[in-house]
Amino acid sequence: MKKYKIVTLGCKVNSYESEALALMLEERGYLPSPKDGIADVCLINTCSVTSRSDAKSRQRIRHLIRENPGTIMIVMGCYSQLNYQDIARIEGVSIIIGTNHRSSIPKLIKEYEETNTQIIKVDDSKEFSEYENLSVIKYSDNTRAYVKIQDGCDNYCSYCIIPYTRGRVKSRNKDSVLNEINSLVKNGYKEIVLTGIHTGGYGLDFDDYSFGDLLKDIVNEVKDLKRLRISSIEVHEITDEIIELMATTRVIVDHLHIPLQSGSNNVLRRMNRKYDKDYIIARLKKIRDNFKDIAITTDVIVGFPGESDEEFEETVDTINKIGFDAIHVFPFSSRKGTPASKMSGQVTSKIKKERVNKLLEISKQANYEYANRFIGSEREVLFETVDSKGKLKGHTTNYLIVKVDGDKSLIGQIKNVLIKGFDKDSKDNELLGEIIHE
Ligand code: SF4
Repeated sequence: MKKYKIVTLGCKVNSYESEALALMLEERGYLPSPKDGIADVCLINTCSVTSRSDAKSRQRIRHLIRENPGTIMIVMGCYSQLNYQDIARIEGVSIIIGTNHRSSIPKLIKEYEETNTQIIKVDDSKEFSEYENLSVIKYSDNTRAYVKIQDGCDNYCSYCIIPYTRGRVKSRNKDSVLNEINSLVKNGYKEIVLTGIHTGGYGLDFDDYSFGDLLKDIVNEVKDLKRLRISSIEVHEITDEIIELMATTRVIVDHLHIPLQSGSNNVLRRMNRKYDKDYIIARLKKIRDNFKDIAITTDVIVGFPGESDEEFEETVDTINKIGFDAIHVFPFSSRKGTPASKMSGQVTSKIKKERVNKLLEISKQANYEYANRFIGSEREVLFETVDSKGKLKGHTTNYLIVKVDGDKSLIGQIKNVLIKGFDKDSKDNELLGEIIHE
């Protein structure tokens, strides 16, 4: 039996694609290779979101070739889409694709076995306009399943390389999404996370079917789905229709991840974001008015070119006005080929670090206050793992981490839990609770 190894770098979309490729190889008789074994086929799904991701992609390709002598080395993903010529020069690389042609991989392996000649199959990302259908019906080690619903992005934020690696929005056919979710639910998954490169951009390439329509169809047509989570959504994509739907169903969870990126109007303009601070403040107020317990989390980039002390303080002020429940903070990383890389006023690493730390402090405090509100209340927890002290650990719908005493057979199940307090040993505001036995 031939063995394969897959290394995945980057985001959940890459994880989804790697799971689909694992399934494709297993259907053709391949088995997963043990970690320290030598694989006949190695596949790396690369990432290019920062220059560090590029370096890591190169390093892992070389490592895989070294550790698996004679392997058929396949490189795919965002880094190879843009840098396939550099990758082709690495000795031992057999097949290179970019962010398309994933479903041809079994055919390409056969071709390589016959010719023993390096294959490069990378198209211009502007030229592929169809969603490439892949399918995942089970995950190797997860209680929540990610379902990819679209690829690409039309937003062209000035700092982001993704529209150049993934091309324009390409949405997945509704029936294909529903079939996959139905299969995953039948296979026992309680929580589905809709994911994509720009998830809320789903349907932009369709004439008469929107992201809101898809949410409605999933909620109405998938029986026994307990939780539906949206990995990330831009503020202007949460339409009144989606807010109304969320108010009428318990399936869509009370957690939204809405990227802010900056709270300064000037910086938002330079970033080519599609809103200003007044819009996002008002919209998020409306969401909070409708759902009192909802968790709203965000991403913020600090040290964007030209970000002055005043502009950073404006961001802090916007964050305080909105009151996010957790903030993922990223120092600006210049990506060659993007408009932001050519902007003047690059901010020093020292200043970026200070700004990162300031926002992380705000995030920590906000997250503590949010979690604290739920002490003494009952919440449903989906158990996912056992922690180092033997406690069962999982998430509530609003993404609080809760730990209880319980048998590991409960992994993958949802139970009602009385939240009793913070786990004093945890730095991440994890909570302790007790399963309520009805
Ligand atoms: S919305 Fe902006 S940040 Fe997100 S993938 Fe598109 S261009 Fe990049």
